[in-house]
Amino acid sequence: MSFTLEGRTGPWEIVVGLEVHAQVISKAKLFSGAATAFGAEPNSQVSFVDAAFPGMLPVINRECVAQAVRTGLGLAAEINLESRFDRKNYFYADLPAGYQISQYQMPIVGQGSVEIVLEDCSVRHIGVTRLHLEQDAGKSFHDRDPALSYIDLNRAGVALMEIVSEPDIRSPEEAGAYLRKLRSILRYLGTCDGNMDEGSMRADVNVSVRKAGESFRTRCEVKNVNSIRFVMHAIEAEARRQIEVWEDGGQVEQETRLYDPSRGITRSMRSKEDAHDYRYFPDPDLLPLVLDPAWVERLKSDLPELPDAKRSRFMRDYGIPAYDAGVLTVDQAVADYFEIVAKGRDARLASNWVTGNLFAAMNETGKSIDDAPVPATHLGQLLDLIADGTINGRIAKDVFEAMVESGEAPEAIVEARGLRQLTDTRAIDTAIAQVLDANADKVAEYKSGKEKLFGFFVGQAMKATGGKANPAAVNEALKRALS
Ligand code: ADP
Ligand code: MG
Repeated sequence: MSFTLEGRTGPWEIVVGLEVHAQVISKAKLFSGAATAFGAEPNSQVSFVDAAFPGMLPVINRECVAQAVRTGLGLAAEINLESRFDRKNYFYADLPAGYQISQYQMPIVGQGSVEIVLEDCSVRHIGVTRLHLEQDAGKSFHDRDPALSYIDLNRAGVALMEIVSEPDIRSPEEAGAYLRKLRSILRYLGTCDGNMDEGSMRADVNVSVRKAGESFRTRCEVKNVNSIRFVMHAIEAEARRQIEVWEDGGQVEQETRLYDPSRGITRSMRSKEDAHDYRYFPDPDLLPLVLDPAWVERLKSDLPELPDAKRSRFMRDYGIPAYDAGVLTVDQAVADYFEIVAKGRDARLASNWVTGNLFAAMNETGKSIDDAPVPATHLGQLLDLIADGTINGRIAKDVFEAMVESGEAPEAIVEARGLRQLTDTRAIDTAIAQVLDANADKVAEYKSGKEKLFGFFVGQAMKATGGKANPAAVNEALKRALS
């Protein structure tokens, strides 16, 4: 089903292309040896190159290049064995050189693709136009002093990958799915930590609208949106604004806009600059970047299993549904956790426990998978106790809660609290006899045809055993007692 927005003149389709800036994970900057750690004392990680002292020369960081190549490979993209660095010229106080070293006409990575799975389980492929390497700028602070602006150059020169998508995205949901998938791939690869709230992944959102079957109309670019939720909101807000402009007989002007999350609207920032405004030209300080094909091959063979491949393998090897496999493979640590629990056990049950009870416990405790509220080995042991009949599924939930609280192994909790499943038929028969005695009126109703009451008796009998009875045994015994 396609997504449209309703206007006065009927339905409109949304067209979106995303430019994602992803900060490269590397110890040093793209062209200098200065450190890149987040949150350091301002201006404590700045080399002479980053501060653009006269006569300083950039030297490319091989690891940043490797990270870009890994990312390209992870996006099933073309790797360009020869690429080039250009200067993008503009003036701003947090850009001491007066230009940013970027890649314009010959990026290191060409066309690729990202597979997204939507809510209704349909699959789409979003084209990646290119990925290029560039320097980040410093950071300006205009709100610390009434008269002064502050500049922090720690970020100046840090390597960024700009990942540009084709205008293939057709709804806020698809944009969200694309960004989540891209972030997941980057994290698997270890090339970007994907933390949007620390600014290590930011998105520029290009939006236009059109009537079905038309060619593309003019787009606007919403700059630097810093959460997936805001990207989705910004798309809808900007599309609605454009629909109104067109329907009022106006013309959407190509421009750069900002999203204001507190008001849920976009507002104009500046009219769109063109490439020629930046006077791009090849950086004379840098040679063309030429990659050894054997080196690229080595990087390729060292790639980890990526989310799509893992999802397929989980469906195939563990027989779990596509949706669950997708959820389990978003995060590599979750996937690893699941595999420890599932190994040699009922994998569907393992999947239900991880995506259900474990995720709920993570939400409640605010813990991440890396310090999971219950270790994977303990959850595995809990499933063993269910499988061998030591406890029933109902009691298992209580045991799990106790595991979250105490950190103890399930076996110890079951023993200490006497939660072993009651399979002793005599004890079950006694409990049932008590229940039937206490509810003679209902027994009579049951016998005169009100068969729905059977469930009531099961519930009462389970209660009488403190929930510990084997439910199947209770069913059997009840049938016998009532016949
Ligand atoms: P620029 O160089 O001006 O930034 P690009 O051609 O690089 O322009 O495109 C930037 C982004 O805009 C890409 O992600 C692309 O998919 C997207 N885009 C291009 N045309 C449209 C359009 N008509 N509607 C929405 N997005 C578009
Ligand atoms: Mg662009």
